[in-house]
Amino acid sequence: TFEVLVIGGGPAGASAAIYAARKGISTGIAAERFGGQVADTMGIENLISVPYTEGPKLVAAMEQHVKEYDVDIMNMQRAEKLIPANRKGQPHQIRLENGATLKARTLVLSTGARWRQLGVPGEAEYRNKGVAYCPHCDGPLFKGKRVAVIGGGNSGVEAAIDLAGIVGHVTLIEFGAEMRADEVLQKKLRSLKNVEIITSGQTTEITGENGKVSGLNYTDRNSGESHHVALEGVFVQIGLVPNTEWLKGDIELSQHGEIIVNDRNETSIPGVFAAGDATTVPYKQIVISMGEGSKAALSAFDFLIRNSVE
Ligand code: FAD
Repeated sequence: TFEVLVIGGGPAGASAAIYAARKGISTGIAAERFGGQVADTMGIENLISVPYTEGPKLVAAMEQHVKEYDVDIMNMQRAEKLIPANRKGQPHQIRLENGATLKARTLVLSTGARWRQLGVPGEAEYRNKGVAYCPHCDGPLFKGKRVAVIGGGNSGVEAAIDLAGIVGHVTLIEFGAEMRADEVLQKKLRSLKNVEIITSGQTTEITGENGKVSGLNYTDRNSGESHHVALEGVFVQIGLVPNTEWLKGDIELSQHGEIIVNDRNETSIPGVFAAGDATTVPYKQIVISMGEGSKAALSAFDFLIRNSVE
């Protein structure tokens, strides 16, 4: 039985494991793929004190840091079920896809999230070559250039406002007849001179030249006509999906499927904590996930010392 078992090996999970192990308590980390979204990232320029790094390099550094401590790393292990303790003092259980069950007095759930994909030709091919998902991360790479934002919900409109201050021109494409973002955001967006808003637009392809994005094609859903927009970047903003399907019914989730946490990273189950992109914490970023992971581990430690079995 672990004292702290972390599920997920992204920045939140790695940070939780280090903080727990540094308390001298038995710590395990089970992850489907150590590194998480960072493994899919190219340039990272907002990890404070590290002006520039790359995803795979940061993953290797995180893993090396975790290995400085006595942490049982179980990589390539997917959790498929949480079985909460039914009595105080009993361990929680995590069933893995391989059939094994892990027991722990406290858990830190940090299974992260994934960006919803458009699923059109060119999207996967030009990922990190003009196709981006995170305006806070990649916006500055498109300084002075032309970009599109796909999606007119709150995240899409916020992204378009944010990008309009950095890039040369923004085309926002919304699938529906109207944007769905809050009115105050829409009003702000409409006031910007370098933004064009297209509604009832269905993006059909992201085009490229010389290995980089050159534009996109969309169909006007009213007229049925196809159009091409020449640009250098496409930000897909049609939703961030938390990896919490496996927790449904066992723990309280928000309407978007995020694990509901308070400011101490407590969930609806005593002794079960959560951190990072899988939770309701606002703003999904590496530094934020690292901070949340450390908070969750400290809360788990606090729980353990307050609930030590005699
Ligand atoms: P994740 O990184 O998503 O890690 C989740 C972990 O859980 C993984 O190990 C995964 O394998 C595991 N897991 C999932 N389901 C299960 C399961 N059922 N059982 C076991 N393990 C499971 N942020 C920045 O701050 N700067 C950037 O420049 C930046 N660029 C980005 C570029 C891209 C392309 C993407 C996709 C994201 C970027 N982000 C960036 C966002 C950042 O990567 C995330 O905010 C951060 O990785 C979240 O950390 P996390 O630990 O919460 O989750």
